Amino acid sequence: MARTHLNNIVFELTQACNQCCRFCYNYWRDGSTPLPPPDPAQVRRTLRKLLSQASVGTLSFSGGEPLLLRNIHDLALHARFRGSNVNILTNGTMLTPESLQNFISIGIGAIQIPFLSYKPEVHEYLTGLPGSWAKASDSLKRVAGKMPVGAFAVLVITKVNAPDVTGTLEFLYDIGVRNVMVNRFNIGGMGLKHTEELAFGREALAAAFADVEDFACAHPDMHFVSGVCTPLCMLDTAPYRHIRFTWCSTDFSLRPVAVSYTGEVRFCNHSPVVMGNIYNRPIGDILLDPMNISRYSVVPGRCRDCRMLSRCNGGCRAASEQVFGSFGEADPILNY
Ligand code: SF4
Ligand code: SF4
Ligand code: SF4
Repeated sequence: MARTHLNNIVFELTQACNQCCRFCYNYWRDGSTPLPPPDPAQVRRTLRKLLSQASVGTLSFSGGEPLLLRNIHDLALHARFRGSNVNILTNGTMLTPESLQNFISIGIGAIQIPFLSYKPEVHEYLTGLPGSWAKASDSLKRVAGKMPVGAFAVLVITKVNAPDVTGTLEFLYDIGVRNVMVNRFNIGGMGLKHTEELAFGREALAAAFADVEDFACAHPDMHFVSGVCTPLCMLDTAPYRHIRFTWCSTDFSLRPVAVSYTGEVRFCNHSPVVMGNIYNRPIGDILLDPMNISRYSVVPGRCRDCRMLSRCNGGCRAASEQVFGSFGEADPILNY
């Protein structure tokens, strides 16, 4: 069987996580039910199945918390042998020196760790895990020391930590981190419960990105990318020339497709809608299924005549799926 080529897959190794972030976008997370424990054998089976159906440029191991899988290094090694770049998206609380060294030996490309504030109490208020600030900052420092190009801090900007943006960037700079993803709070998962507390309006969002831009101007050796699409009618990105904004696409070759450890395929990791399962059909057939293509071709009414549509695409419409149950609505952040 010929393998489909996919540029980018977010592979969710587990739903479980040792943190309970107030902003967690995982659609399965609403705090109401216990999550299934990690299942290393099932993850291994699914990864092998996936890589028998597709050659994958970059596989991002995510979750939940992927380091809960005791066989994560074997999984990464298998993916590397099958020709994929592998990135690890972890909360950093379980990244021991031995584990990091193993990742380096395997040739992991990047390790991303959320870091929410230079103030421990703010970081831990948002993660829900006492002690997580020291562990995340220690992990980031070690990753930056060993693999400077591949160390990424992820600063999720919410109303709670927005006042700390400059101090947080200074802290990250001082511990050697030179790559920062600055993502605005994106509504979904646990964040649905805390939207009023975390989401902010246009002016506050613009002010937070202005703080990032000012810092970026003063620190040209630090690199910034914003990975969550924000509607252009909410945030004009033009003034922020030192932040690289990425845009979402309905073309699966241009966006990360999500695959869960049980084989479920979704539009992306924020989307709650299952398009199919690789145990029933190859992933290439699922992504090219006319029903799936048609579901994701719809354009929100308010965006139809917008001259920015080709770039903005209505913002994050996986968030619309979580909030409105439909990809046909523009990003719910527009309501704030
Ligand atoms: S955002 Fe990440 S670290 Fe936080 S609860 Fe969700 S999966 Fe865990
Ligand atoms: S495409 Fe829609 S969300 Fe984006 S700027 Fe235009 S109207 Fe706003
Ligand atoms: S729908 Fe949202 S989360 Fe998914 S790829 Fe697009 S911007 Fe990213």
